Parts: sequence; C-alpha cells; structure tokens
Amino acid sequence: MSVTVRVPAKVNVQLAVGAARPDGFHDLANVFLAVSLFDEVTATAADELTVTCAGPDADQVPLDRTNLAARAAGILAERAKIAPAVHLHIAKSIPVAGGMAGGSADGAAALLACDALWGLDTPRAELLDICAELGSDVPFSLVGGAALGTGRGELLTPVEAGAFHWVFAVADGGLSTPAVFREFDRLTAGTRIPEPEASPALLAALASGDPDALAPALANGLQAAALSLRPALAKTLAAGTEAGALAALVSGSGPTTAFLVRDEEAAAKVAAALEASGTCRATRVAASPAPGATILPS
Ligand code: ATP
Repeated sequence: MSVTVRVPAKVNVQLAVGAARPDGFHDLANVFLAVSLFDEVTATAADELTVTCAGPDADQVPLDRTNLAARAAGILAERAKIAPAVHLHIAKSIPVAGGMAGGSADGAAALLACDALWGLDTPRAELLDICAELGSDVPFSLVGGAALGTGRGELLTPVEAGAFHWVFAVADGGLSTPAVFREFDRLTAGTRIPEPEASPALLAALASGDPDALAPALANGLQAAALSLRPALAKTLAAGTEAGALAALVSGSGPTTAFLVRDEEAAAKVAAALEASGTCRATRVAASPAPGATILPS
C-alpha cells in the first residue's frame, strides 16, 4: 500500500528581515505564495525507513536521516509510538537549495503521506506543530495558497491572493540559507534594523490580482545578501527585466530568481530570453496561488 502527496514550491513576495534574536534566528514578516512547481512524495510500507529521490537535481538531495522527509516520518512515528517502517520516494521538480523551500515541501509531504499510510488521523493543529519543529518554512508547505508568516516565519495567517504568473530562473549550484542570513548580519552590522512588518500596499496588490500593482511592491530583504554572495545573479535579474518581466527578485535566500509576468504568453517570452541569455541553468514557468500538500487519488 502507498500514499502519494503533491506539494508546491514557494516564492516570498515580501521578506522583511528583523535583527538577529538571541537564539540566532531572525524575526520575519514573510509573505509566502505557493507556486505550481511541485514535488511528489510517495510513502510505501517497508521494513525500515529509506529514502530515494529522482529528478534533475536528485544527486544533491541527501538520502539519510537528514532528509527532511525522513525526519518528518521519524518524528511522526515517534509521537505515535510506532516504528517508522516506510519507504519514501521523492519525485523532485523543485530546485534544490534554491530558496523555494524544496526540502521543507518534502517534509510536509512526507508527514501527510505517512499520517495517511499509518492511519493516524493526526489533527491538523498537531501536524502544523510537527511542521514548525521541522523548519520555519515547513508549515506553509502544508497549508499552501498565500500566507503571512511571522515569528521566524512559522506563525501563519492566510492572506488573500489573486492569480499571478511567474518565471523562475534556476542557477547553477545552491546557496545555504544560514550563510545568506549570516551575510545579512554582516551587511547590516551597526545599522538600525526596523521591526519587520507586512506591507499594506503589498497585501492589497496581492489580493487585487493586478500584476502592475504587485510589481513595485515586491521586496526581499535577503536580496542584497544573496547578491553579495552571488554577484552574477544581478545579470540574471537584468536579463529578465530586459525581456519584459514586470519585476525581478531573488526568491527567498536564492539563488533562484523570480520574475513576475503579465500572462502565460509573457512567461514563455521571458523564459526563452532568460535561457538564451546564458545567465541561468534552466527556467520554469508557474502560476500562483497553488494548493498546499495534497494527497493524490491512488
Ligand atoms: P528554503 O527556501 O526553505 O530556505 P531552499 O529551497 O533554499 O530552502 P532546500 O531545497 O530545502 O533549500 O535544500 C536545502 C538543503 O537541505 C539541501 O542542500 C539539502 O542538503 C538539504 N535537504 C534535506 N532534505 C531535503 C530534501 N528533501 N530535498 C532537498 N534538500 C534537502
């Protein structure tokens, strides 16, 4: 018997970063948007916990207990006082270490898949607690749609979002999220960092579904740090803007870059221009908002 869960990637349409807290985390005002780039995680009854992964970036995904899907299964089994007797297969489309919460997505997907496979029927609130234990971006992967994340990003409030079209440019190699936060700390040392707050203009634009209103409101507080570690991303951002994207920004901690476009036709044009520019490894076209982790019919 097996259960397959489909789970979306995310882009941060606003990522306001506060000063480092005593625990090293940063308070965030993080407006998440789920986009239609999906991983699928299949949980199959097995003798012991194993993980396999397929997809273009599969060789970069750890298959041991550090894999977030394996960690999710382990935590759920421990809470239920059962053995984590499951094989997890990840069909990976979300870029790895790309700032699109791919690992977080697999964690949320594995949690939902194992919960169904083991017939646990864990209450939603408890699943969300486990997600927050797994990582700051994991609760949003479960919920999907559009949401404001506060705290270190894990305290979610749903927000309204109309439909938008996106192009993503996948870079060569990943960027470590902790390294990008450390660079943020270095770049902002000695400056006064305001309390992170969601922008009312951004939230209104998101709800309106008007890409011309959303474009100037997009903001990523980690962008300078990602560009400092990976200066070549500036060329990718410029190539997308020159090709007609309404706005260009680094996705989360990068190095994936995100381009807001007017419609599907513009998406195809911007994606083709980005590929021809030689400033990225690959492009992906997606729409938002996308649903959160969902069990697929067997
Ligand atoms: P975020 O946007 O949440 O900061 P990210 O998209 O930048 O994350 P991930 O794709 O989640 O980055 O990968 C970050 C690291 O996590 C990888 O380099 C890898 O070592 C590890 N990892 C653990 N589990 C997974 C998984 N299921 N898929 C991908 N990476 C994983």
